[in-house]
Amino acid sequence: MKRQQREELVALTKNWPSAMCFDVPMASYSTLRAGGRAAAFIDIHGLAELQALLGQLHEQGLVFRVIGRGSNILVTDKGFPGVMIRLKGELARVASVAGSGRRVPEEDGALINAGGGCSLASFLSWCTKQGLSGLEFMAGIPGSVGGAVRMNAGALGGEIGDRLHSVECVDGSGSLIRVPRAELRLSYRKAELAGKELDGVIVASACFRMQPGVQEEIRSRCAGFLAQRKGKQPAGVASAGSFFKNPVGDAAGRLIEAAGLKGHRCGGAMVSPVHANFIVNTGKSSATDILTLMEQVQETVLQKFAVSLEPEVEII
Ligand SMILES: Cc1cc2nc3c(=O)[nH]c(=O)nc-3n(C[C@H](O)[C@H](O)[C@H](O)COP(=O)(O)OP(=O)(O)OC[C@H]3O[C@@H](n4cnc5c(N)ncnc54)[C@H](O)[C@@H]3O)c2cc1C
Repeated sequence: MKRQQREELVALTKNWPSAMCFDVPMASYSTLRAGGRAAAFIDIHGLAELQALLGQLHEQGLVFRVIGRGSNILVTDKGFPGVMIRLKGELARVASVAGSGRRVPEEDGALINAGGGCSLASFLSWCTKQGLSGLEFMAGIPGSVGGAVRMNAGALGGEIGDRLHSVECVDGSGSLIRVPRAELRLSYRKAELAGKELDGVIVASACFRMQPGVQEEIRSRCAGFLAQRKGKQPAGVASAGSFFKNPVGDAAGRLIEAAGLKGHRCGGAMVSPVHANFIVNTGKSSATDILTLMEQVQETVLQKFAVSLEPEVEII
């Protein structure tokens, strides 16, 4: 990034709640605890700021990427040449569409709006307190609302898209667009708008249709889903969850295990001995270690089973 571009970014953001930072190591923002640097990084707290920033980046010809909780990304060791954006403040809050915390009955449910930067854990906890049910199966997914919509994240037969009503996005030129669920194409770990993945837009907030439920029962269903994860997934290690998408009719983890790759290492990266579809950082892995291991896994599975594994993790 050129000096003048930096100066213009500093000038635009100088009175905003968070400062524009430069040359930021992205390992600190990824649950894989690995990755290169971003040329610039900023936390954005409000919609107007977000629109102003994207408008300016568009004019400056600078690229951007939004991150949530970093639980499904890996920035290559080459780094990211543009501005990394994280949503905070009003872009990370939950409220009923009335905005007062009261539930709004609509048809057979309540419409709840959550900021793109809100963690799924906070969103689920808010819904539980309000006696709102429908996304308990998401318990334990360590992402944000925006990241989960972008990935159409899901578990145990459910996907976040099942409850989605609409999204409010800011596009690459800073314009606000409201997209009803019907205009999004949601498929396995993919959300598309007008035939394109959501990388060019930022999900500022998402609106969900939730069902009334009994608080204790909702809490207990969340606990049940959390318990199902325990023991099946490596705990207390750096990972991005399932590294590869499941091929149609099979499980990536089954294929990787059958290929004898559990425990296989490349530098500090290892195929988890607990769950073969998790690549874990054993301590000092570089992004290159992880990507080399990824390619080795892909090659071996292709040779042994003629199946091509596609990464679920977003490589930036
Ligand atoms: C231990 C563990 C378990 C996991 N289990 C599951 C699981 O069961 N099911 C599942 O689906 N996933 C799972 N994941 C993966 C991950 O948590 C999900 O994909 C999650 O939805 C990613 O959200 P995030 O906020 O961390 O996104 P990030 O990793 O920060 O970003 C992922 C992608 O979303 C984009 N993005 C982020 N925020 C926005 C936004 N506001 N607007 C537009 N695009 C955005 C980013 O640019 C990037 O392309 C797991 C991960 C871990 C570490």
